[in-house]
Amino acid sequence: MKISDYRRHVGSIIDGQAVAPMPGGYDIEVVNPATEEVAGLLHEADAAEVGAAIVAARRAFDEGPWPRMSADARKAILYAVRDKILAHSDELAFLEIMNTGLPIASIRWQITRAAANFEMFADVAGLAAGQTFTQNASYLTYVTREPKGVAALIAPWNAPLALASMRVATCIAFGNTCVLKPSEFTPHSLFRFVELIHEAGMPAGVVNLVNGRGHVTGAALTESALIDMVGFTGGTETGRAIMAAAGRNLKPCLLELGGKSASIVFESADFEQALDGTLAGIFANNGQQCLAGSRILVQRSIADRFIEAFVARAKSIRIGDPYDERMEMGPLAYRGHMERVLGYARIAEAEGSRVLAGGRRAAGHDKGFYVEPTVVLAQDNGARVCREEIFGPFASIIVFDTIDDAIRIANDSEFGLVSYAWTSDLATTMRCSREIRAGTVWVNTPMMRELRAPFGGYKASGIGRDGAESSLAFFTELKTTSIPVAPIAIPRLGAN
Ligand code: NAD
Repeated sequence: MKISDYRRHVGSIIDGQAVAPMPGGYDIEVVNPATEEVAGLLHEADAAEVGAAIVAARRAFDEGPWPRMSADARKAILYAVRDKILAHSDELAFLEIMNTGLPIASIRWQITRAAANFEMFADVAGLAAGQTFTQNASYLTYVTREPKGVAALIAPWNAPLALASMRVATCIAFGNTCVLKPSEFTPHSLFRFVELIHEAGMPAGVVNLVNGRGHVTGAALTESALIDMVGFTGGTETGRAIMAAAGRNLKPCLLELGGKSASIVFESADFEQALDGTLAGIFANNGQQCLAGSRILVQRSIADRFIEAFVARAKSIRIGDPYDERMEMGPLAYRGHMERVLGYARIAEAEGSRVLAGGRRAAGHDKGFYVEPTVVLAQDNGARVCREEIFGPFASIIVFDTIDDAIRIANDSEFGLVSYAWTSDLATTMRCSREIRAGTVWVNTPMMRELRAPFGGYKASGIGRDGAESSLAFFTELKTTSIPVAPIAIPRLGAN
């Protein structure tokens, strides 16, 4: 696939119009991680430009048609966005791979997901209903849901289209408006995505886009008193800063943060399924997944056999050009991230853990941030490679003896995003489901997102959930109206 004619210099889209980058403004080079070439430039929005985007979103909410439209009219436009994404999937895939280095098979799936996000939340909003209370015979009391206002939406670089589309779709489906800020590493696909949203008939000002670094553009957005809420997907430390900034203005936050999830392989597991699933759980998406099963807990009775097979398969993963359909892993997203991931192999060695595979740049690539799939046998769960989110193709294996040990180790983490259990035993399944403190427990399956169901983290992995009911709850206000059904006696103050 080659699409050479793309907009290289991307900036803001405000009120439906691309903003021409200001002369003398601050531009950032966007690097293709597979080639290390400059793929384009990003014009950074300063506080004034962010302010203009928020004003546009504010006006679209306070005066524009979107919050006032019938749910069916909104749904028609959201379905048109879905269709635009699917019709432009090759172009979006080209841009997404150019910025992220993710293999094309991953990207195809993620573009389908981006489209599905719009369809799903259009449907959810189309069926949303309020409540009625008639227990008090003199009154009819009903509860309606109203859109909440203007959202600041901030996205990470590891799956830009899939994750930013989730933020945008769950927000605007209920009649809200927004300003989206992508990661400064991955602006190109999302610039085209916001253009396509407008080509699908979205009224101007509903979805505005600003680009730039977190501490400049992102901070200007989340610190604004003119926004009504923040939806954020990204790292835990950034989540803390964002919540502190939003908290000063009493703005609620939905935070989808990091993880260090346990993937537990019991002796009762289907061995081959567990092997396939744990490999996919840590090495899919170049290992850059919040929901990676990055701590692999293996029961001692099968540990030698399992670890040997896991290492052999990890060493055979095909690494190369992410546009090549045969490749299973591409480069990591940027140089600093690659160096950080490789640094953890040195940390593991220094701490006395054993590096069983990888831990270095992949051979045979003159250019590109390619890293070999890395497998470490950790001394115990106290090792830094078991406690800190590495966010790369880096599996930390821990051997355990009993189910009590496995659950204790799984829960012994600052994080609680997801967990995986591999077992054919019902009692083991039920104990994992009940006792692991994580937002999702996947049993005998790698990642499976049921978009209707809540998704989000316990502990430092987040606050709030995406999902049909959860997104409705976050992105709408509840209003109670009470009306007497017959004349009522009102105390007549001052009447005599
Ligand atoms: P990051 O936190 O560095 O950046 C995320 C976004 O926040 C970027 O757009 C960045 O520019 C912006 N940002 C940074 N500082 C900011 C500030 N002070 N104010 C406002 N915005 C700011 O995360 P990343 O490196 O882009 O992504 C990786 C992280 O995201 C990992 O920790 C991963 O686990 C997490 N993540 C979580 C989920 C989830 O659903 N729970 C999904 C994907 C990624």
